[in-house]
Amino acid sequence: MADAGRAPEAGWWSDMLSSLLEGMGDACLVTDDRLVVLFANAEAADLFRSPLRPVGRRLFEVLADHRLTEVAERCRREQVPVEQSLQIVVHQGGHERKKYLVVSAAPIRLPGAPSGHGLRLIIRDETQQRETEQIRKDFVANASHELRTPLSIINGYLENLVEGDIDDPVMVQRSLLTMQKHSLRLARIVEDMLTISRFESVGEEEAADLKRSSFSVEECVKDVLDRLHPVIQEKRARVEMEFPPAEVGSRLAGDRFYWDQVFFNLIENALKENQQPGLVIGVGMCHRPDGGCELWVRDNGVGIPRADLPFVFKRFYRVAKHHSQEIKGTGLGLSIVRRAVEAHGGEISVDSTPGLRTQFTITLPPAPALPPVCSEP
Ligand code: ADP
Repeated sequence: MADAGRAPEAGWWSDMLSSLLEGMGDACLVTDDRLVVLFANAEAADLFRSPLRPVGRRLFEVLADHRLTEVAERCRREQVPVEQSLQIVVHQGGHERKKYLVVSAAPIRLPGAPSGHGLRLIIRDETQQRETEQIRKDFVANASHELRTPLSIINGYLENLVEGDIDDPVMVQRSLLTMQKHSLRLARIVEDMLTISRFESVGEEEAADLKRSSFSVEECVKDVLDRLHPVIQEKRARVEMEFPPAEVGSRLAGDRFYWDQVFFNLIENALKENQQPGLVIGVGMCHRPDGGCELWVRDNGVGIPRADLPFVFKRFYRVAKHHSQEIKGTGLGLSIVRRAVEAHGGEISVDSTPGLRTQFTITLPPAPALPPVCSEP
């Protein structure tokens, strides 16, 4: 350690320097003037071609993309700082991932090195920011598109009526019904968007902002089934409840508003996606030994093609079907469901064998203890 009033020793400086560089968040490499790596922090490891130790190797042997080395080469050649944005592909956990990087190389003095100078390379990973930006752009584009379609249909019918086609009562009635259908769709899109925005406005701290209380999941599902009763009857669907026995119970410490949304969307999807008779929907829950629980909604209907499975939780994603025009929906339901589940620290997955079985499974960790309810004296 450095004593007050005495110059710290070389070892102290190098320890402090490497802990600073290790914790800086950006990838950082130092090379000598032949581009042989002298230092690389842990964040740089993501960018390496192989898990071999980079120190002592040439930069081009180490880095996953030759364009990173080219930035360093230019800086060495021209002896000026160079900054460049790059998009590269890295392999992580068996997957390929696109990364957006800003690479900045600058010449530095390297006392002790044979030539007395070298190079530092700072690589900032801006992938997360870019992806968030892209999601926002897509959302605005998709939302405008989804709102524009029913609006232009309503405007078209209104124009016809305004231009005088009002003597034929049958025509007028048909126009009004079509406009009503599309204005209901507009209302549903706006309602779903408001729900998403309510979920997102609590940001990263969702868990802390949830209005958690202890409620019975079985009761929550029964309320949702009551609301959907007319559709269940119309479809002649059978709903099987698969809940723990009364002595075990199905209580959950969560925000009941969110769970209403979850079960309403999942059960409504099972009903509206399936036109064939004989629809059976299973809704259930089981407790896990670790104190968490599993919830599911399954059906024996048309299912979701394998190719669409990875995308169904994305906003506005709807599986293309020959009859898709007949099925009402905004493509926002499952993204609302996923937000609600994630706000509770859980995960949702879907598995489907078209025509046989489609199951949405929610896994929840043990809920935090609720504060005791104070009773008035
Ligand atoms: P939507 O408002 O269109 O229902 P969702 O986000 O709720 O939007 O669902 C996305 C898509 O996933 C739906 O368009 C539908 O094609 C598919 N999907 C969801 N649940 C089911 C299900 N139980 N059976 C078949 N397809 C489903």
